[in-house]
Amino acid sequence: MIVVMNHTTSDQEISNLIEELKSSYPVEIQKITGSERTVLGFIGDTSGVDMEQIQEDSRVYRVMRVREPFKKANRLFHPDNSVVEVNGRKIGGKDIAIIAGPCSVESEEQIVGIAEAVKASGAAFLRGGAYKPRTSPYAFQGLEEDGLELLKIARAKTGLPIVTEIMYPQTIDKFVEDVDIIQIGARNMQNFALLKELGRTKKPILLKRGLSSTIEEWIMAAEYIMAGGNEQVILCERGIRTFENYTRNTLDLSAICAVKKLSHLPVIVDPSHATGLKFMVEPMCMAAIAAGADGVIIEVHNNPAKALCDGAQSITPQEFDKVADKMRKYAAIEERQISEVQ
Ligand code: PEP
Ligand code: MN
Repeated sequence: MIVVMNHTTSDQEISNLIEELKSSYPVEIQKITGSERTVLGFIGDTSGVDMEQIQEDSRVYRVMRVREPFKKANRLFHPDNSVVEVNGRKIGGKDIAIIAGPCSVESEEQIVGIAEAVKASGAAFLRGGAYKPRTSPYAFQGLEEDGLELLKIARAKTGLPIVTEIMYPQTIDKFVEDVDIIQIGARNMQNFALLKELGRTKKPILLKRGLSSTIEEWIMAAEYIMAGGNEQVILCERGIRTFENYTRNTLDLSAICAVKKLSHLPVIVDPSHATGLKFMVEPMCMAAIAAGADGVIIEVHNNPAKALCDGAQSITPQEFDKVADKMRKYAAIEERQISEVQ
């Protein structure tokens, strides 16, 4: 539920009303000061709230029910786009962030070499999986803790903040200490125990869309993190399951437009996992910008044919350089910019 205040209502009168409402109902009230009007957003159980009584209050312009089940992630509660800032790099607003790196960390030479190359081409963040959620238990499972250490070496050498996937709640403290953005993979999007725990941290979270999740389920997963107090959530569209099997998944670009309408959270696109095919990575990056995305996360490997994971969708550093260059031009068309260190 939201309460839109009258133009003429003073700050003091608004504060009084907030106190009155908080003492009458078991809800949290978020005050949203917009350029036009002030709005009060109700979070919690609003079933017992007497809407008519509030509507009759002379300080109030209008009372409306929020149809969507998500509140903190709802654009009604935060009309401006949220911007997540990590070590001086922005994701959201005017800035489009490029995150690049291998599917998995394989060795020091590999991760440092790729980090240096993608940095030189304009990536703002380094990705690399240390704990890998593989479909087969016999496939490479990632270097785990050693992989995290190698990511830290690559960060120390290049200054690029690191983005890597978490799998287990018991590693949260380590991730909070070592990682700049914690990724929740598609397979864990509805791991509510993990979401709740991460909601108690202050780390930016990159939340991938589940393989077969609706847009609402995806935003509700973000709401779990935000409800715990961590509002630094970046959504990532990475393709969904459809009957089509030419591509690994189907990139739902329209989801970007839907999320932008429904939510204030930044949303990025993963063209690598969405398509599974390296030749589609470049055009889907441009399409992501056209659809209004706030960034991309791209798999880059120095030797895709020998990659331990996802070689078929990985582009080389040389190919990445061309993609980044083209993205800068497309971003300018949309009056946006590729995120750089401020
Ligand atoms: C990944 O980013 O390496 C990954 C496993 O992605 P997803 O969770 O989208 O499949
Ligand atoms: Mn991968």
